[in-house]
Amino acid sequence: MLGLYIHIPFCKSKCSYCDFVSYAGCGELADDYLKALQKEASFYKKIPFPQTVYIGGGTPSFLSCTQIKQLLDFVNRTYGGNFKEFTFECNPESITGEKLKILKSGGVKRISIGLQSFKDEELKLIGRVHNAEQFLKAYIAARKYFDNINIDLIAALPQQTKDSFLESLNKVITLKPEHISVYGLQVEENTPLYKSGYAYDDGFYVDLLEIAYQTLTAAGFKQYEISNYALAGFESLHNINYWQSGQYIGLGAAAGGFVNGERYGNLNGIKEYISAVRQGRRPLEFKETLTGKAKTGEEIMLAFRYLKGFKPTAEMLKFFENDFDELLKKELIEKDGNILKLSAKGKYFANEVFCKFVEPFK
Ligand code: SF4
Repeated sequence: MLGLYIHIPFCKSKCSYCDFVSYAGCGELADDYLKALQKEASFYKKIPFPQTVYIGGGTPSFLSCTQIKQLLDFVNRTYGGNFKEFTFECNPESITGEKLKILKSGGVKRISIGLQSFKDEELKLIGRVHNAEQFLKAYIAARKYFDNINIDLIAALPQQTKDSFLESLNKVITLKPEHISVYGLQVEENTPLYKSGYAYDDGFYVDLLEIAYQTLTAAGFKQYEISNYALAGFESLHNINYWQSGQYIGLGAAAGGFVNGERYGNLNGIKEYISAVRQGRRPLEFKETLTGKAKTGEEIMLAFRYLKGFKPTAEMLKFFENDFDELLKKELIEKDGNILKLSAKGKYFANEVFCKFVEPFK
């Protein structure tokens, strides 16, 4: 399968934990950015049409109605429209009824809303610019148009307790979304949150993720990836393609792609990205073609994320049989017939598993 990812790097303001490539106060560059996206797409003309599209950020809903319409027109015109799945990320402060209408008529099939917490105090502490009430309004508005909605939550936020996390989870469940993502907070260096000295205890983190697993499973959601839960039939096809090492085109600043065996990443800066594309160059930060052990290791790392597991190929066993044995002994992975998958413990210590397969090749 082939996917298309488009990165929209604009945000109203920068959240204190954020190390994604996103910029506040750069909205005046959006028109030029959208033009650059179209030009960048022309560099990948010979590649077949994607079946899934994911417009993420940043905050795609930060764009104006006219800009969203232009973006969707470009995607449909260039890639044939009528995609199996077409996701658009929104933040509560910038969704409007009019934007939702444009998204619906532009072929978007799935909306992903960044809530993160239902507690206003917790939202404030991480610099989110919306509150729970704004989220609720946005969700109700989105429901009028979309029957496939994801809500994002974060575990281990400053001042979050097991009770407050459970309360957020239960409130989200009451809204009956089709998909819920629960990310464990990563305190990344160089973020204001890191500089504030915030840290959490591993035990607390694991407890929260276990609460998410128990609560969401009891509510009928299936965990199909470390951070992702869905009702039957609502797993994200776009993300599954990543975990199956499928191909995808990435457009935009900081977007990554994997096409014809080449993995690439684009420049992070908006102006640098626009300028490279205007000069007729692919706006690359890097490109590489993985082969042999590095390629196989990356495939394993991705395949472990998809919790149903995978049957190791001869190539995987040739390079990594000892690592599989070691992880089996540590009970971080398990065998189900000839399928290997993360164990219940491995889901919480997935990085320990992943670094076996990708670390030596960085
Ligand atoms: S809204 Fe998302 S991308 Fe934008 S600053 Fe906050 S966390 Fe980062």
